Amino acid sequence: MSAKRRIAVLGATGSIGSSALDVIARHPERFQVTTLSAHRGVDALLALCQKFQPQRAVIADCALLDTLAAGLRTAGLTTEPLAGPDALIAAATASDTDTVIAAIVGAAGMASTLAAAQAGKRLLLANKESVVLAGALLMDAAARSGAQIIPIDSEHNAIFQCLPVAGDRLKGVRRLVLTASGGPFRGKQRVDLETITPEQACAHPNWVMGRKISVDSATLMNKGLEVIEAHWLFGLPPERIEVLVHPQSIVHSLVDYADGSMLAQLGLPDMRTALAQALAWPERVESGVGALDLARLGHLDFEPPDRLTFPCLDLAYHALQLGGTAGAIVNAANEVAVSAFLQGQLCFLGIAELIARTLDKVPVTAANNIDALLAADHASRAAATHHLNILESN
Ligand code: NAD
Ligand code: MG
Repeated sequence: MSAKRRIAVLGATGSIGSSALDVIARHPERFQVTTLSAHRGVDALLALCQKFQPQRAVIADCALLDTLAAGLRTAGLTTEPLAGPDALIAAATASDTDTVIAAIVGAAGMASTLAAAQAGKRLLLANKESVVLAGALLMDAAARSGAQIIPIDSEHNAIFQCLPVAGDRLKGVRRLVLTASGGPFRGKQRVDLETITPEQACAHPNWVMGRKISVDSATLMNKGLEVIEAHWLFGLPPERIEVLVHPQSIVHSLVDYADGSMLAQLGLPDMRTALAQALAWPERVESGVGALDLARLGHLDFEPPDRLTFPCLDLAYHALQLGGTAGAIVNAANEVAVSAFLQGQLCFLGIAELIARTLDKVPVTAANNIDALLAADHASRAAATHHLNILESN
């Protein structure tokens, strides 16, 4: 076994963060936590610090630094308290850290994800929004620094596992097939979706996840973002990335090869499998996830996605075709729309509408530097918020 991996968990208090720490805690001889971070949940962060005793704890909201520092003192911990976006970047690039788990939700995770890639860390990438927003820059940074990116998103982790370990990994690949559960509203018509509440949208049939990705799964924008994510991670054009609905979420994705072989990765729907695979790669360790009993399952079902009821999927494909800053625009508009939906300011069907209007309105430009991407993100949020205000005043 190689040397102990020293790990920063950014977004430690979230769903992915908790699953990662569950796996890490099973293997103290292999894994050591150097950094834990949270947005505003000081109490949850302190509880994790007591358990994992990291070198530093980062609270993203600077106003909470004193509370964090006092809590660490009271607990008698030597963990250094830090706050704000710069501290997240410092943690992602720290010399005592070789592995960064990017598990912050939304574009808020982009700067630290990019910094980890630039610094040549092993990057366990869950924060798909940063790939959708800045995929070209991220892949370029990793290529220059030699950073190894291991996808945590279950579909991309499955594809990673189905591709050869070395050489030209895409040689002979015909298509990537991303599976989708179809979300809680699979089989419904548009009229059924008019009165959907946030609670209904967040009740995913197979996965327990944060609220933003749960709503994304219900609109199928999650799959749309994942198509863009797959394009950047694996370098295939949109027409060679397909989406297949598979309600049981057992087959996590497939690779279709030129010789007619299709390789798939299967497992129970539990993110600890992808996290354990990525944490121990190229070795395998126990994750806490039980064995799959296929005889008991009996059958696996597949169907095409319903693109008319769930237009967000095609909006994402459209953004990928447009290229440039279109991914950043779609991602930001989606973040605004989902947040408004969760706060009761926008109806469920309004999410796709708001994204489509924003993509129509905000000009797409080249995306070859971070300033252009941040400007597109900003312009998209402003345009989406403006349209939201008009809707609310009507
Ligand atoms: P979550 O909401 O449960 O957790 C998000 C984490 O990010 C928390 O620790 C929170 O404190 C932190 N955070 C939130 N806003 C922040 C900000 N502005 N600045 C700094 N930190 C902030 O989300 P999650 O479900 O764990 O998802 C995390 C990421 O992983 C998302 O990009 C999601 O799409 C992706 N992902 C999640 C799953 C899953 O099963 N949950 C699966 C695949 C991919
Ligand atoms: Mg996924």
